Amino acid sequence: MKRLQSLLLGIDGKGYKAYRQLTGTYRFDDFRLQVDHVQGDPFASPSRMRAVMPWSEAGLPDGAREPASRERAARDWLGRAFREAARETPDIRIDAGGQTVLDRTAVLFTGDGVELRFTVNLPAKGRTILGKTARDLLCRTLPRIVRATLRPEYRDDDALRGHCDTVEDQGALRSSLAEAGLVAFVADDSILPRRSGVDDRPLEEAVAFRAPESLRVTLDAPNAGAIAGLGIPAGITLVVGGGFHGKSTLLSAVQNGVYDHLPGDGRDRVVARDEAVKLRAEDGRAVHAMDLSPFIKELPFGKSTRAFSTALASGSTSQAAALQEALELGADPLLVDEDTSATNFMIRDARMQALVAREEEPITPFVDRIAELRDRLGVSTILVMGGSGDYFGAADTVIQMHDYQPRDVTAEAHRIAREYDTARHMEAPEPLRAPRPRVLATRSVDPAGKRGKRRVKVRGVESLEFGDDVVDLRALEQLVDPSQVRAIGLLLPAAGAAGVADVDDVPAWFRAHLQRPWEELTGRPDGDLVRPRLAEVMAVLNRLRSARFRPGATPPGE
Ligand code: ADP
Ligand code: MG
Repeated sequence: MKRLQSLLLGIDGKGYKAYRQLTGTYRFDDFRLQVDHVQGDPFASPSRMRAVMPWSEAGLPDGAREPASRERAARDWLGRAFREAARETPDIRIDAGGQTVLDRTAVLFTGDGVELRFTVNLPAKGRTILGKTARDLLCRTLPRIVRATLRPEYRDDDALRGHCDTVEDQGALRSSLAEAGLVAFVADDSILPRRSGVDDRPLEEAVAFRAPESLRVTLDAPNAGAIAGLGIPAGITLVVGGGFHGKSTLLSAVQNGVYDHLPGDGRDRVVARDEAVKLRAEDGRAVHAMDLSPFIKELPFGKSTRAFSTALASGSTSQAAALQEALELGADPLLVDEDTSATNFMIRDARMQALVAREEEPITPFVDRIAELRDRLGVSTILVMGGSGDYFGAADTVIQMHDYQPRDVTAEAHRIAREYDTARHMEAPEPLRAPRPRVLATRSVDPAGKRGKRRVKVRGVESLEFGDDVVDLRALEQLVDPSQVRAIGLLLPAAGAAGVADVDDVPAWFRAHLQRPWEELTGRPDGDLVRPRLAEVMAVLNRLRSARFRPGATPPGE
């Protein structure tokens, strides 16, 4: 630390470039500071540093290092503690996250100890180094923040344990879904609505959720014990109800149930199976060599849809593509909301069938495939549909949202389905089958732009610039953290970088790759990455205009 101090005082008043000499390692009393990257000027992205405190000094409480869910929670909690300790020091920042508890690189547990990864904006007046200010920042303020985060005498270990308990319970609830025959679970007393579209915290004075008796199940959590709530069974679940009664809010909570949430979030006992994928219409997106034939027979002029590509999909085509892509990667359940669906993909009623002949309509609506998805492919669906009763016949469970509360109206909906014939006829021309496989030419997934310069730029969860491509991410509702997008930008070229020219089973390749430890996934010690799900990696890849897929071998029997 003495060396760092004299170095900083020595470059006081010099040009900003003199900060470059800081790169290296410095020993403090109870931790080591590593300066990995020094910013080139005061306006560039801030400098990247790490502090590593050995286990002997940090001494975390029992149950903070295993099992894996608690370890992830403990790392998350320490990142938040660092952010809190640095609240009045805007020049020192850590990527600590929002309402979700994700696998982040901001805090890692290694063989050496606890590693904190953060950025420091090195102080200057104009382009002149402020050496004394930098000395105070790095040799006084920073050690105080590191110690407030990690030293047992400053740490709130009860809060740390509570955080780990809550996260471990969510993982346990999620893992117990399959055995209980459920695809999702919403505990009694959960708070589902959020404050606003840009504020993910729980809505104040919201109506707490309460399961109807007939759908109430009790699951066991290791820390909280028995938890009662709504169990959404495998199969087809329809969510109906008047406008503004909370249908979409329930589905949003379920789609976010693939992630763990903070204690007090209101969704910290709302879980969905890991493979749950939200599908929606997204006109204008790209589609690559995707088999849309189960939903779109052929296009005008007889163009085949067995390996359909477009740079500009329509609403119905984009939703069919999203569904087939979800099946390709093993999604289950599928989550669909009428608010974000293409009407002609979802329904085609008797009157329209009478007017426009089957031969003139290439689309097989979802209503004629939903039962086959369940029966032939074993894939469940949760569907919000307040505007059409055509799905009543297929649904196994019908939940009505009324004044933000769920009611079980399954029997009633089934009675209505028997009594009021929809008068429409099934339109599926041939049995549903899994989408035809695709092969990815990995060379096409290259962040180097036309002029050869590597470009990966993340704008929140809104868009990713990748080479010369700009991928619009706004329809990917299960992307919740910009650091997931940064990691996806880093992971997409990995197959090519590993020297693999073609990948036959793209989801399998990325699934295996995503499970590797952080050190193997990232070259440099970045502190602002979050491990994404396979579904989001594939979703970004599928929307990348420059990506080149071609149809794979046709499965036997077709
Ligand atoms: P729907 O999809 O049935 O039309 P939404 O789910 O969009 O309805 O909800 C309508 C409004 O009600 C939203 O502004 C939402 O924040 C609010 N809301 C939803 N659930 C609750 C609740 N439990 N308590 C209070 N407000 C809620
Ligand atoms: Mg809605």
